[in-house]
Amino acid sequence: MSSRFSFSENILNWFDQHGRKDLPWQLNKTPYSVWVSEIMLQQTQVTTVIPYYLKFMQRFPNVHSLAQAPVDDVLHHWTGLGYYARARNLHKAAQKIVDEFEGLFPTDIEHVIALPGIGRSTAGAVLSLSLGQPHAILDGNVKRVLARFYGVEGWPGNKNVESMLWEHAESNTPEHRVADYNQAMMDMGATLCSRSKPQCERCPLSDHCFANANSRQADFPGKKPKKAVPVKITLMLLPIWQNEVLMYKRPPSGIWGGLWSFYEIGALSELDAFKHQIGIGECTTQPLPEFRHTFSHFHLDIHPQLLQLKQKPLGHVGENEAGWINVKSLPELGLSAPAIKLLSQLAEL
Ligand code: SF4
Repeated sequence: MSSRFSFSENILNWFDQHGRKDLPWQLNKTPYSVWVSEIMLQQTQVTTVIPYYLKFMQRFPNVHSLAQAPVDDVLHHWTGLGYYARARNLHKAAQKIVDEFEGLFPTDIEHVIALPGIGRSTAGAVLSLSLGQPHAILDGNVKRVLARFYGVEGWPGNKNVESMLWEHAESNTPEHRVADYNQAMMDMGATLCSRSKPQCERCPLSDHCFANANSRQADFPGKKPKKAVPVKITLMLLPIWQNEVLMYKRPPSGIWGGLWSFYEIGALSELDAFKHQIGIGECTTQPLPEFRHTFSHFHLDIHPQLLQLKQKPLGHVGENEAGWINVKSLPELGLSAPAIKLLSQLAEL
């Protein structure tokens, strides 16, 4: 490698000419606004995040407003973004910041890492982008750039591979203009050094990049060793009376934690027991079209069953937090993705 080549200078020069500088979270940056944007941007594209970010910041403009809000309201503003643990952790972390830091976002990286849902890279991003603190970052995009540039073999989920990438990230992060540098690295990975079609001819690192020199872009970063993804089946029950369908709020942790969804059973033979338990009487059962919902670790094949009730049960039914939801005018609740899909089908019936 030529001694005159400087990784960070090339990245900063590229940023000056091509970097994104007008995204909503880049204007009037505070640790809070950068934190919210960084959490939303995990596993989600910039264009998807923008409208969610704007609405979220309007409703929760600071740590206090987020900490005081009911979790349902926070999840409602997250509905459609997926990975809901992110929203629950954001809410918990805001409460912790109020309790332990008087509502001021901590500025010591160890304190930031100790907040729920914030890892080393996100903490570095928040403090460097908002306050210019000299911390390295290593999100998925940066991992891809560094793995290709240095030819780091192996899956970054592996501890040794990850530490090697952190060493490269640390050694290239400059003391000055760290916010621009980190922003540029994330942008480079998201645009030029994209997963499937890297545009090496436009890349400021191309003359010194291992993957480019060896035409091995597709080999980096190394793939996760494959495991067969299991398929599970569930029957989702939609007891409906006129325009109202019975739903319940799921427990706070686990799949769709804290979101409203439909009751489920494993097989039709369990339907009578369900009706008895919930207290619904005679009804006709009609299967709706099946569909698959894919989680990171399994596929869920959903077989929805519409239960047309002859009478609405009196009094409270089901779990503590269960209720009849009007399918024509949905209340502001956090909803699981299959629930959104099925409610829109019910509204059309
Ligand atoms: S030269 Fe190509 S593979 Fe290498 S960092 Fe740039 S875009 Fe990525």
